[in-house]
Parts: sequence; C-alpha cells; structure tokens
Amino acid sequence: MELGYIMPRFRQTGEILKLMNNKEHIRNVGIVAHIDHGKTTMTDSLLAEAGLLSWNVAGSARALDYLEEEQRRGITIKTANISLLHETNGQSYVINLVDTPGHVDFTGKVTRALRATDGVVVVVDAAEEVMAQTETVTRQALQERVKPVLFINKIDRLINELRLNADEIQSKLTHIIADFNNLVEIHAEPQFRKKWKVNSSEETVAFGSALHKWGFTLNMIQKKKMKFTDIIDAYKNDNHQTLSKELPLHNAILDMTVNNCPSPTEAQRYRIPKIWKGKPNSTVGKALMDCDANGPTVMCITNAQVDPKAGLIVTGRLFSGSVKEGDQVHLVGANKEYNVKQIFMYMGAFREPAGQIPAGNIAALTDSDIARAGETLVDIAHKENVVPFEAMRYVSEPVITVALEPKNPEDLQRLINAMNRLAVEDPNLAVAIDEKTGECLLSGMGELHLETAVSFLKDYSGGVTITTSNPTADYRESISAKGSAATAKSPNKQNSFRVQAEPSETGKMKSTADRTTNTWVSDEQGNALVDLTKDIRILPEVKEAIISGFRWACNTGPLCEQPLRNVKVNLLDAKIQEQTTLREPKQIMRAVSRAILGSILTAKPILLEPIYKIEVSTPPQWFGKCTNIIGSRRGRIQATENRGTITMITGYIPVAETFGLSAEMRSSTSGRVFWQSAFDHWEKIPEKTAAEIIKQVRARRGLPPEVPEPDKFIDEA
Ligand code: GDP
Repeated sequence: MELGYIMPRFRQTGEILKLMNNKEHIRNVGIVAHIDHGKTTMTDSLLAEAGLLSWNVAGSARALDYLEEEQRRGITIKTANISLLHETNGQSYVINLVDTPGHVDFTGKVTRALRATDGVVVVVDAAEEVMAQTETVTRQALQERVKPVLFINKIDRLINELRLNADEIQSKLTHIIADFNNLVEIHAEPQFRKKWKVNSSEETVAFGSALHKWGFTLNMIQKKKMKFTDIIDAYKNDNHQTLSKELPLHNAILDMTVNNCPSPTEAQRYRIPKIWKGKPNSTVGKALMDCDANGPTVMCITNAQVDPKAGLIVTGRLFSGSVKEGDQVHLVGANKEYNVKQIFMYMGAFREPAGQIPAGNIAALTDSDIARAGETLVDIAHKENVVPFEAMRYVSEPVITVALEPKNPEDLQRLINAMNRLAVEDPNLAVAIDEKTGECLLSGMGELHLETAVSFLKDYSGGVTITTSNPTADYRESISAKGSAATAKSPNKQNSFRVQAEPSETGKMKSTADRTTNTWVSDEQGNALVDLTKDIRILPEVKEAIISGFRWACNTGPLCEQPLRNVKVNLLDAKIQEQTTLREPKQIMRAVSRAILGSILTAKPILLEPIYKIEVSTPPQWFGKCTNIIGSRRGRIQATENRGTITMITGYIPVAETFGLSAEMRSSTSGRVFWQSAFDHWEKIPEKTAAEIIKQVRARRGLPPEVPEPDKFIDEA
C-alpha cells in the first residue's frame, strides 16, 4: 500500500495491546479489486479519516503527519498491513487491512495475503461492473474460506458520466450484486454458497464514491432518513461535498467489516479444517480451532518484503498462542529452530515494537532467517505434532521467460542471490540457471511482471547492471496418441527398461502418488509414472532412480527440450542387474529417460503454447481497432459487451503474440484503451507453426535443427 497524507488520531500502545487480546474485537480483512476500480483511493481515504492506531509518542500526541514521519524515520511507507481503529455501537475494534497487490500478474501474492485474512472487501467500479480480476480475486478468497463483502464504488460516475436516473441506477446496482452473487454460487463451497451471498439489506453491500469520500449501507442511509435520490440531487446541485460529512466512507466500510466479517475466533473454526491438515483433536488442532492465545504458538508467514532501511520484513497471522521476544520457535518448512528477536505490531501503517502479540492478530518480524513466505512458526514443544499449513493454491503459473546477464561477469553471484531473494517474495516468479547454456532465467506471468522484477533485481543486487533478452513464451511438449512400447538399455548395456507413453486424462490426475493404482508419481503438469510390471523382485531397489529418470524426461521433452505435459508413462518391464555396481542410479536413469523419450516420439508428439485470456475495455470508437489488433496476433474474440461508456471485449490470445502488444494498443488508440491478460490454458500449436518454433527453440538451445528419430533413443521397439 502506498500512502498519501494523513492526520492521525493517537492511541497508546498499551491500549492497543489490550484490544489485541480481545479477539471478538479484531477483524483481519483484505481489500481486493480489479485494477483501477478504486482500491488505493479507498484505502487512502480510510487511512485519512478513520481512527488510527498510531505510534507510541510517549504520551504526547504530536501532530506529525505520516509524510513527516516518513522523513524522520527515513522509511518508505510500503506496507503489508495497515491497522485502523474503529468505534461503532460504543465499542472499539482493531481492523487490520492486509495489502493485496492490484495487478493480475501478482495473484500469487494475493493468495498469500488472503491466508492472513478472514474477510475481504471486494471493490467493484459501478460503471465497469464485475470484471475478470474481480472473479479471480473473489475465487481466491473463497478458496481460502475468506468471507467476501462488496463495495460498489464510483457511484458518482453513474450520475455524472452515464447520466442514469434513479431507476436505471437501481437496476445497474441490482445487476452488479446478482453478478457478484453468481461468483459466490460458482466458487464457494456448498456450505457457504447461501450464507455468503451478499445482500444490501443485510449490510454486506456498501455503495459509494471513494474519490468523494462518501459511502453507505442501506441501514445507514435509512438511519439518516436519506434516500438515494438525495445523493443524485447532491451531485445535480453541485454540493456532493456534504455527502462525505453525512455519510463518511470509512463508517460505511468499517461498519460493514465489523458487522459482517467474522472475528478470528469465529473464522478459525471453519477455516482451520480447510487450510491446515493436522488432527483437529490434537492439542495444536484444538488451539487453532479456538484461536487460543494460551495454546501452542502457530504463526503463518504470509508476506515477505524488503524494506530498504529495515531489511527483510515478514508479516504473518498468529493462528494460536502468542509470539514474544526471546521465544524459541521451530520453523516448519526450513526444519530449524529460530529465536524471535524483535516483534512488531502495526499501528496505522507503521511498525512498532510490541514485545508480545497474541493469537488472532497480524505481527511482523524483521529477520532474514525466516525468509520464506509460506513458512510456519511453531512452539518448540509441539514441533513433532505440527503439520505445516496446506500448500497455497496459486491460480497461475509462470509462462514467459527472459534470460538475464550481468554486464560485468564478476557480478554473476550477486545477480543470482538477488534472483533467489525475489523468488522468495513472489510466488509467481520462477528462477533457474540453465545448466546447458549457463543462462540465468527468470520466468513470470507477463511482460509487466518481468519488467517489474528486473527493476527489483537491480535494487536487490546493489545496482548490478543487467542485460535482459527479449521475452519468450514457455512451451510444453505433449502427445496426441498412445506411443509404441519402447525399450532402452543403460549406457553399460546391462539393464533395460520397457515403457509406453500415452496421453493422460487431464484433470483426473491426483497430485500425490496413488498407492492403489501403482502410480508412482504424478506431477502438477499432469504427467504420471505408473508401474505395470509384474513380480520384478529387485525393482523397489531402483525405484528412486527410475523416478529420477522419469523426472528428467519430464523436464526435457524430445522435440525441443521443453517440459512435458499430460504424458502418462507406463513402466511395462525391466531387466535389472543384481550386482549394485552394474546398476548405479545413473545407468538406470539414462535407460528410463531414453525409453520414455523414444516412446513419446512414436506417440504423435505435439507442442503446446500458453494462452492468455484477454479482457479489453475500450471506448466504443476504438472497438474495431482493438479487435483487429487481437485478430492479427492469432487471437480470437469470445464475447463483447456494451457497458455505457465502454465496450468490453473478452477473448484469447497466444502469449507468444503479446510481446509489444501494450505499445501497439497504446499508439493505435491514443492510450484510451485499457487491457489486461492472464494465463488461461495450454493449447496445441498448429503443426506448421509448431515446426517453426521447434526449430527456433532447438537453435537457441544449441541442438541440431532436426528433431531426432525414435531409434536415437530406442534399442528395440
Ligand atoms: P486501484 O487500481 O484499484 O487501486 O484504483 P485507484 O484507487 O488507483 O483508482 C483508479 C482511478 O479511479 C483513479 O484515477 C481514481 O482517482 C479513480 N477513482 C477511484 N475511486 C473513484 C470514485 O469513486 N469515483 C471516480 N469517479 N473515480 C474514482
């Protein structure tokens, strides 16, 4: 979150800590939105207007604003969390707003951030309505069992720009609510489908204008004895400023949050069984379900961020127990002990040393030892019983890659260190060193994503000058038929393996090995290794090496060394030497991988490319230009919809065709068109195009131009 001006109202740390122990009075919420729908404007307004938990100023409230404070402390305010104080019905509440990045390329970070929350405010622009990213973020929230409430923003646009009358506004808002509820219907689990639909009469929907700082729920406007037409009149009479006094935005949003988002105690009862796979009746399980501050410490790190001054800051949610300075805790992922040095709470947007923070709250630690986001901290005494939290499901995988090189070869290690650090912060980035070409490869979700990443790398490496290749799309190799059974021998000719590749049924693969069907491995790309051999006594002894051979083949397909997708490999037979020196793992691996590659080459191999779903919003006059541009880049239009001031185009476009698309869109439409794309699926490339791409990739990887014949790998069909 980037902050602007602020006029804080001060509270003392002690007072806040007291509140933090009162779990019923805590709300951990995220704000999510399609880009440009007003998340930042709304957050800024909340910060400016809401009661702030402020830093401890030794009892004297000094009228420092945040910018001065920023200068005084030499920090930039970029924070994972903002804590506000809200008073309603004569009670005080602490509201932790957990930041979620806005751009669709950073959805992985959104998933992480959502883990720390129990509710989300979904912001939707009233004029543009529910968009692709609204759906993505709402789906992500529902997957984490995070309850959504809706803020329909930019109502002023309906009045000023679209010039709708009261009835038309009413019907547009009803339409948005119905659309949103449709998302809940589709993506919520059955037990929440009904309960979590939003409804304006229940205060789960608020309406307003973040820009003009007003907002209301139905309940609020009725209490004020106002009607919707009063809002329209205020704009018509040019005195909408009164609205921010009558119906201040922060009251609408924070009341809605307090009244309709669950407290941590309430939420953990149903969230824990979903996000944590340990035994619910164990000591740890019970404490988690109860959000018990006296139970064993369990803290889930959900954000890792580098602050130029403070270094690495990790932020996370305490699900049970408490953390305090000096605690010895166990890091589940890293499997090591860790001594908590300093612990911070958030006050407004600042971190303040807190000494101790109890369950249900958000805490920050500054220490590079706990670098991994997704890490779980647990009480040493219970480390044996704690299973880590459920792996987070990221909606997208990286699909484009650039090769990086330091201008000065001596900076290579600094670059690699910076890349590794960045990959920790952003789950949608993948970094790799290509062993064959020696290149440092950085993969991400789109051009903007990688550009941002490279600028971070410059920072993190202390200013290393980096040259960047043009981006390329990632490809996958797959098959379209069952291949021949193929046998290959190990290099020493002493062992042989017979395998047969066939297309796997997409979507039916399980991500872990299934013992009942002899599936040894099944990976996220839908590849699987299945043992169909009979009575080979010695097989278990080389199982690991066979699996390694399979994985090796999965990483480097026979067409152009791209990873495999949806390939099922059946192990049919094997001849294995008794004597261990004759069947070293290397020998086994080579034989297995060669047999697999051979069989694949007989299975009508195909090349797959990543396809973006693209969503364009354009003023009607640029509509034709937009569809032409998409068409000229092998894209296809799926639907168009008129929404008053803009026309929405949705379609699909190959990732490889999108490089330079931003510039083309901008220059051909005077910058009036907004678009975004997100990875949607893998698709077979038409044969001719595929042949071209295979040639290019082979050349890039220093391979001979022609795809090898099956017998290069097979010793006997
Ligand atoms: P974010 O990408 O969701 O964080 O969106 P921003 O808060 O940056 O807002 C995007 C644009 O919409 C900015 O130009 C804002 O000034 C504008 N905006 C935000 N809220 C409103 C509103 O209520 N009414 C109008 N007319 N514009 C708004």
